Amino acid sequence: MNHLTPEELIDEARALLKDVINFEGPLKPKDRLKIPAQEMPAQDPIVRSKNLEEVALGYAAEQARLEAIRCLQCPKKQCVNDCPVGIDIPTFVKHVAEGEFQAAADEIKKVSLLPSICGRVCPQETQCQMNCTIGKSLKDVDKAVAIGRLERFIADWERAQGNVKPPEVKPETGKKVAVVGSGPAGLVVAADVRREGHDVTIFEAFHKLGGVMRYGIPEFRLPNEIVDEEINTLEKMGVKFQTNFVVGRTRKLMDLIEKDGFDAVFVGTGAGLPMFMNIEGENLVGVFSANEYLTRANLMRAFDRSHADTPIYKSQRVAVLGGGNVAMDSARMAVRLGAEKVYVVYRRTEVEMPARKEEVAHAKEEGIEFKFLQNAKRIIGDDKGRVKAMECLKYELGEPDSSGRRRPVVIPGSEFIIDVDTVIVAIGNGSNPLISQTTPELEVNKWGNIVVNGDQKSSVDRIFAGGDIVLGAATVILAMGEGRRAAHAINEMLEKELKEEKAVI
Ligand SMILES: Cc1cc2nc3c(=O)[nH]c(=O)nc-3n(C[C@H](O)[C@H](O)[C@H](O)COP(=O)(O)OP(=O)(O)OC[C@H]3O[C@@H](n4cnc5c(N)ncnc54)[C@H](O)[C@@H]3O)c2cc1C
Repeated sequence: MNHLTPEELIDEARALLKDVINFEGPLKPKDRLKIPAQEMPAQDPIVRSKNLEEVALGYAAEQARLEAIRCLQCPKKQCVNDCPVGIDIPTFVKHVAEGEFQAAADEIKKVSLLPSICGRVCPQETQCQMNCTIGKSLKDVDKAVAIGRLERFIADWERAQGNVKPPEVKPETGKKVAVVGSGPAGLVVAADVRREGHDVTIFEAFHKLGGVMRYGIPEFRLPNEIVDEEINTLEKMGVKFQTNFVVGRTRKLMDLIEKDGFDAVFVGTGAGLPMFMNIEGENLVGVFSANEYLTRANLMRAFDRSHADTPIYKSQRVAVLGGGNVAMDSARMAVRLGAEKVYVVYRRTEVEMPARKEEVAHAKEEGIEFKFLQNAKRIIGDDKGRVKAMECLKYELGEPDSSGRRRPVVIPGSEFIIDVDTVIVAIGNGSNPLISQTTPELEVNKWGNIVVNGDQKSSVDRIFAGGDIVLGAATVILAMGEGRRAAHAINEMLEKELKEEKAVI
């Protein structure tokens, strides 16, 4: 919750930074611990719940420097160990503290291709910030050095200078690589493989590129212009794109290798198959999967009811089922699309909720009501087959289950009705079965995820996979980490082949 306006926060930081810079002698850890954690300036909740613009406004330079000065530069670098792509965090943070922003950007880009995206959506509180000494000393992970916000600041700063340079590309090798899917996993593979001089084509089923970063995560958390920027960088590097191209339909996966001459294929098709509750009334008009709801809003601009080909359903009272980030995004989108009342219905308590704390706090500020220890029993329709209400059950927590979270146990006879006209189901996603069904030789596990070895190599020669299609629904940074590993293995394989070909000549 913001107590000060963005202007007040920046003024406060400016005054404090002056004092810190003028401090006599080196700052001791106890001095650094006294510097307050810098709050993220944000749009006012009442204003932002009526627009799709980004909620978090980003640090000003003074805030970024102060926040970075809080870092103790621990020799053990636990934050680096907890970063899935291994950014040298203390080094880039030190550059920020000293106002050397370009040096900080250069340090991050050594290993991370998408810093402005990761700085916005990575769950830092369970990764790099989780074991930060500052957070531990203050006994509050939210007071850890705000590494993600600093990463975002630096990436935005560099973009604002207008001199983001694409990575260098080595001379053409004549080898061709296909990347299926343009989510974070596919984009990282494309960049890392292209750098080595191989010819790369990304095949994407949708008409727009970016995967979930485009059609799932709403613009109020991740603006499209940021995703566009990252894709422009790939374009400048010479990566080719084919949209509206469904591998498994437009062309079979094996055709890419056997008929189209690709030397390697990376499959990064994500986890786009929504799960449902399998309860009565789920096929009524007004029931959406979160995927459909968010894709219509983000990708197809279906909220623009007078222009959209498929305008989105006009909702007044919405229930969102689930407790993850996807549920938060759906509920917050429903508010922005004009719903008067939005409930999040979750069968455990707030403690067990998988959504990021920051997203839950933002949702509450925007007026969303949380119904904990409750779940849908059935959805009730009117005589036209439209949702008119939802019958719910109350729960209590029992013993922990296999996930370690306490199991929700239904309270018999606790049924009650809530009056809603829309239900959005956000209880998880599975893998899309199209590629595995049309490529029988590809080994998948019982959830339909592609099975790979430690190099992201699948059971089929020359086919690699990574991201959500391997992990199940996970995170942007984990998808990027898998993409990086796959690209490394593809590059090694192609380099070996090029050497062998040269030896024969
Ligand atoms: C609403 C929502 C919010 C989220 N919020 C966060 C968050 O805050 N932080 C975070 O870290 N993670 C978040 N995630 C998860 C994160 O977005 C994913 O883990 C990540 O995008 C996975 O990347 P990927 O490259 O594996 O796949 P995706 O991003 O899913 O991309 C896969 C791409 O492949 C394409 N494709 C699929 N099948 C085919 C085919 N047969 N042929 C051609 N193309 C195909 C798809 O159209 C898609 O563009 C969120 C997910 C959702 C749904």
